[in-house]
Amino acid sequence: MPQGNALPNASPSLSYWQRTTRSFAHLHANNTIPVPTSARYVVIGSGIAGALTAFELLEAGVNAEDVVILEAREAAGGASSRNAGHVRPDAFRGFTAYSKVHGAEQALKIIANERLVLQKVDEFITEHAAACDFHRTTTFDVCMTPDFAEYEAASFNAYKNAGGDVSHVKYYTGPEAQAKTNVPGAVAAYEWPAGSSHPAKLAQFLLSSVVSRGVRLFTFCPAIDIMRSSDAGPGLWDVNTARGTVMTEKVIHCTNAHAAFLLPLLDDYITPNRAQAHSLIPTAAFTGTNILQNTFSLRYSLHHFYSLIQRQADGTLILGVSRSNPTLSKETIDGRLSTDDSKYNEEIASDALSSFGGIFPDYGANGAMHGEGLDHAWTGIIAMTADSLPFVGEVEGFPGQFVCAGFNGHGMARIFTCAPGVAKLVLGKQWEETGLPECFQMSKERLGRLSSQAVPSVW
Ligand SMILES: Cc1cc2nc3c(=O)[nH]c(=O)nc-3n(C[C@H](O)[C@H](O)[C@H](O)COP(=O)(O)OP(=O)(O)OC[C@H]3O[C@@H](n4cnc5c(N)ncnc54)[C@H](O)[C@@H]3O)c2cc1C
Repeated sequence: MPQGNALPNASPSLSYWQRTTRSFAHLHANNTIPVPTSARYVVIGSGIAGALTAFELLEAGVNAEDVVILEAREAAGGASSRNAGHVRPDAFRGFTAYSKVHGAEQALKIIANERLVLQKVDEFITEHAAACDFHRTTTFDVCMTPDFAEYEAASFNAYKNAGGDVSHVKYYTGPEAQAKTNVPGAVAAYEWPAGSSHPAKLAQFLLSSVVSRGVRLFTFCPAIDIMRSSDAGPGLWDVNTARGTVMTEKVIHCTNAHAAFLLPLLDDYITPNRAQAHSLIPTAAFTGTNILQNTFSLRYSLHHFYSLIQRQADGTLILGVSRSNPTLSKETIDGRLSTDDSKYNEEIASDALSSFGGIFPDYGANGAMHGEGLDHAWTGIIAMTADSLPFVGEVEGFPGQFVCAGFNGHGMARIFTCAPGVAKLVLGKQWEETGLPECFQMSKERLGRLSSQAVPSVW
C-alpha cells in the first residue's frame, strides 16, 4: 500500500502541547455514539484546517447543526497539536524554487499570501480573544554557513528584483548578525515579523467555538470510505465510519497527510513524512529576563536547519528539526517516510540537542541542573506535496467533495487563508473570491502537470 494511503496511526505519542492540555473538554467528544445518518456538511479532520473551515462556514451563516466533524483520533490529534509552534511566513527564501515550478507571478503571490496569514492569525486571535499563547514578534533566518548565506542573498535579490516587497526584512552580516541573534557562528541573518503559538490551544479554541454553537464533533471516528449515495439520487455522498454512515451533500477533506486515504487520486502527490520536535526546560542562561524574544530558523543549508521558539508563558524552548540532515544515518532519514508517530527517534533528538548546544554555547548543557534540558520529544506526520503547495478546492469528478490539505510542514503559515478559502468554495463562491494564489487550486490539470515534471522541494 502506498504510504499516503493510510489512516492516522491509532496509538500516537503525545506532544508537549497535548501533554499540557489534557483537560480540554471536547478531547474525546462523542467517542462512542453513532454518527447521524445525514448532515449537510461533513468536515473530515479536526486539526486547525478542519476546525477553521467549520468556523468559517458558521461565520458565513451556515446552521451549526448542519455541520459534522469526523476525527480519527482525539480532538485535533494530528499535526496541529504536534508541531513546533512557529507561525512563520516565508519572507523571500522560497521565491527561487517556487518560480521554477509556478512562474514568478505565482511565486510572488505565494510569499505575499504567507505574510497575509500572519496578519490573519494575529487579527483572529485578537478579535476572538483566543487564548493560545500567541506571541507576535520577529524571527531570524540565521545563515550558519557561507554557502547558505549566498543562497539566501540570491533568493532575497531575486525576490526583490521581481517586485517582491522586502521593506519589512532587515539584514545583518558578520559581527552584527552575531550580536543581534546571540549566535556566535552566524554568518548573516535576516529578520522579519513572525509569531509563535500553542497550536493545540488554538485548534481547541476553534473546536470549542464551533461545538458550543451546535457543530457535532465525533472523535475516534475515522471516515473509512466515501461512496456515491445509492438511495437518494445524484449529488449525495455516503461517508462510512465504523459507527455508521453519514449521507451528505458536501464533504470537506481536511485530512492533510492522510488525504490520499479517502482521495486515492492524490496518492502520488501527497506524501506523509514523520517530523520530530522537542521541548527543553531552559538552563539559567535562557530563563527570567534572558528568555528569547525572537524566534529562529538556524540554517546550514536549504534542507538542513533547526527551528526554535521560546514560549513566553513558561519559558519552554521548542526545538524543531528539518526533514533532511547530512549528519544523520540513512536508516533515520529513510524512517521519516512513515505515518507512525507513536515514538521519536533518538538519533534525531541527540543531534538536535548537540546542535542547539553548539549554536548557543551560552546554553551550557553540561552544567545543567536536574530538571533542566530535554523535557520531551515527539513526532507528527506532515504532508509533503509534489510541488510544495497545498491542494485547495473542489475535487474534479467528485462534485460536492472539497479538499484543504497538503501543508508541507508549514500549515501555520497557510491555513488561515486556505481554510476560509475552501469554506467560500463550499458555499458556491468562485475561486477568485478566495484571494488565494491560483497555483493552490486543486485541479486535474495541476496533477497532470505534476506527474510529468521534476519539481524541486522548497521545504
Ligand atoms: C513535528 C512537527 C513540527 C511542525 N512545525 C511546524 C511549525 O513550526 N510551523 C508550521 O507552520 N507548521 C508546522 N508543522 C506543520 C503543521 O503542524 C501542519 O501543517 C498543520 O497542523 C496542518 O493542519 P491540518 O489541520 O491540515 O492537519 P492535521 O492537524 O494533521 O489534521 C488532520 C486531521 O485529520 C484526521 N484524519 C485524517 N484522516 C482521517 C480520516 N480518514 N477520518 C477522520 N479523521 C482523519 C487526523 O487525525 C488529524 O487530526 C509541523 C508539523 C509537525 C508534525
